[in-house]
Amino acid sequence: MSKNIVVAIDGYSSCGKSTLAKALAKKLNFIYIDSGAMYRAVTLFFLRQNIDLKDQESVINVLSKIQIDFQTSDNQTLITLNNEDVSKEIRQMPVADKVSTVSAIKDVRIEMVKQQQRMGRSGNIVMDGRDIGTVVFPNADLKLFMTADPQIRAERRYNELISKGEKVNMEDIFENLTKRDYQDTTRVESPLIQAEDAVVLDNSHIDETQQLEFAMGYIKPLLAKKI
Ligand code: C5P
Repeated sequence: MSKNIVVAIDGYSSCGKSTLAKALAKKLNFIYIDSGAMYRAVTLFFLRQNIDLKDQESVINVLSKIQIDFQTSDNQTLITLNNEDVSKEIRQMPVADKVSTVSAIKDVRIEMVKQQQRMGRSGNIVMDGRDIGTVVFPNADLKLFMTADPQIRAERRYNELISKGEKVNMEDIFENLTKRDYQDTTRVESPLIQAEDAVVLDNSHIDETQQLEFAMGYIKPLLAKKI
């Protein structure tokens, strides 16, 4: 193959972006990168260190002390923050509550985008997030923009967290995802917008198998071209 294939998946919160990205990466044997998990890990670190988000100097200083890695174990991708597995903690409400505020900080984005672009050079990848097709990989081979009815998204996220034993309530989940959508689409730095050349995938009424087939319909011709 001449160059790495990059599949960029962007969209609203809890749209199933990571479910689709993981399924594609598994099927295609591509590397999967969950860029949202990186912003969540940074947020966790800031919360633990009690960082004043308005103090640019301490934000920059702390960013230089953060090492984020992905590791695969038992078919699961773990995210580590300075070698500690934080996969579970970054999904909990304290992080979910603050992540859109942290991810709106310019210096945080500069650092994360740099790391994501470096990861993109390591092979064929599927990366999901909010600015992957617009900022991180504007020349991605395929850009998908995912959306779904907010109520359906909240129910899916609620069921996912409950099945993992988390104590959550539906109202908090709905409020959190609509608030994050608002913050993510209205921020100054790299707001969530659909790239002009992105393909829209509304999965309100389709299941995981159907969304995988939909995406594969666009990827198969790409693979054929690259061989
Ligand atoms: O994808 P996930 O919902 O885990 O992302 C958490 C938050 O991280 C988003 O609501 C958004 O504020 C931020 N994010 C971002 N840019 C990305 C990925 C995530 O700003 N590429």
